[in-house]
Amino acid sequence: IKKIGILTSGGDAPGMNAAIRGVVRTALGEGLEVFGIRDGYQGLYENRIERLNRYSVSDMINRGGTFLGSARFPQFKEEATRLTAIGNLRKNEIDALVVIGGDGSYMGAMRLTEEGFPCVGIPGTIDNDVAGTDYTIGYFTALSTVVEAIDRLRDTSSSHQRISVIEVMGRHCGDLTLSAAIAGGCEFIVIPEVEFKREDLINEIKQGFAKGKKHAIVAVTEHMCDVNELAAEIEAAVKHETRATILGHIQRGGSPVPYDRILASRMGEYAVQLLLQGFGGRCVGIQNEKMVHHDIIDAIENMKRPFNQELFDTAKHLF
Ligand code: ADP
Repeated sequence: IKKIGILTSGGDAPGMNAAIRGVVRTALGEGLEVFGIRDGYQGLYENRIERLNRYSVSDMINRGGTFLGSARFPQFKEEATRLTAIGNLRKNEIDALVVIGGDGSYMGAMRLTEEGFPCVGIPGTIDNDVAGTDYTIGYFTALSTVVEAIDRLRDTSSSHQRISVIEVMGRHCGDLTLSAAIAGGCEFIVIPEVEFKREDLINEIKQGFAKGKKHAIVAVTEHMCDVNELAAEIEAAVKHETRATILGHIQRGGSPVPYDRILASRMGEYAVQLLLQGFGGRCVGIQNEKMVHHDIIDAIENMKRPFNQELFDTAKHLF
């Protein structure tokens, strides 16, 4: 291969820039040309492709978001759209594509690979919900942001003896909520991997207050329920002022923490090495601190992220 393309797709995550930098610097060092594609699959479809040089990624290691831009582009699920995209890649004489994104973006990369264009996926999402890797780029930065928010809520919630319900991102993965709840000393955790009954939650909060607790923080993964409704229900049952806070997109922003920068740099470098070794249709991961790669189709269709039950059980003992 002589020329590679790179794009970021789906929800942005801190560390995506560091990953792009890792890919660009490694590829240029290996004598490849690198082309940046704007706004994910949308820019690929619209042929918004430009050549990158080593200075294109200067001062990027510490920047949140993605300088290439990202987009949700549902039309990419249609074959005709993807064929146009492949046509654009071929017109630019690009031989392989690096896709940085979450599992939705992996689906796109899987389809392109099946249709004859080799892609390598790098997991970039704060949700940590991608198979084949222990951690995704952006997760540890988001974790630190969520914990900081919980600390702030704790101050005010303890001063006012109030119950706080905090909604954390993660799509259908409870990792961010669970880890943030442990680090933030939350009393209750509601995550998709563990069945939850409102009555149990309310009873536990009541028991906490009976034991002499002065306030409580409940961490809930998004899409589990309407947190404002839950807060009203808790307030009515426990007879303590209860407020819900939805952290929202705050969790996606900010300068990446060192771990994410290092992870992104390693993954970017590794993705290029895979392409140079002739691998296509792979996704990059870190497992037990080592870089690994898996078949992207297998990762999407067959590999399930293991749930850390032990961590959840530990959390239960800390309330
Ligand atoms: P993430 O990559 O963060 O999971 P999305 O699920 O929104 O985010 O996916 C990002 C983009 O990937 C979508 O907007 C679409 O362009 C592309 N994509 C998602 N699913 C598919 C699919 N089944 N086939 C082709 N492309 C897809």
